[in-house]
Amino acid sequence: MAKQRGDVPDTEILAALQERIERVARGGAPNAGRFCGYCFARLGATDHACKVCRRRIREYPAVDSIPAEVLLAYLAHRKKMVLWVNVFAFVGIFISILIAGCVVLLAPGAFKLLAVPVLLGGSWYFANLLGGGLGGYIGGRSGAAARLRRWQKYLRSRDPSREHIQDPDGSLLRLS
Ligand SMILES: [Zn+2]
Repeated sequence: MAKQRGDVPDTEILAALQERIERVARGGAPNAGRFCGYCFARLGATDHACKVCRRRIREYPAVDSIPAEVLLAYLAHRKKMVLWVNVFAFVGIFISILIAGCVVLLAPGAFKLLAVPVLLGGSWYFANLLGGGLGGYIGGRSGAAARLRRWQKYLRSRDPSREHIQDPDGSLLRLS
């Protein structure tokens, strides 16, 4: 099926649906109902077009569940995200252990006790700062690339005649 003018790029669709489809994939929402035949966003009973990808139901008939391959694409994003957030959270905890160690070594007498609040507060602070910030950023980028690869593989299996792949600047694929 040819790309139509005004179509929303796949990268935008995937990002918009991450939370919703991830919830379905993890069992937090039922994989049953009325879904867009192109992007698998949930549709209202009377919708004639998808609000996410803007394709018409007439051209992409609604389906009653999300295919497993699509759920796996969204889980691939989550997996990368969890991995990188955790890696950087541990780096943050390690940094605060180092700082607390310095306090123990360098602070005089009773001031060595400051190592405890430094360790606890520092762990919390650096784990959030690095895990949530840097880890979230890297996880989001590499997760989006993994999700897009799986989605495109799924699209090719669904429609082998599909020639071009929507990734305007190729930036996501380079991050693999
Ligand atoms: Zn759609």
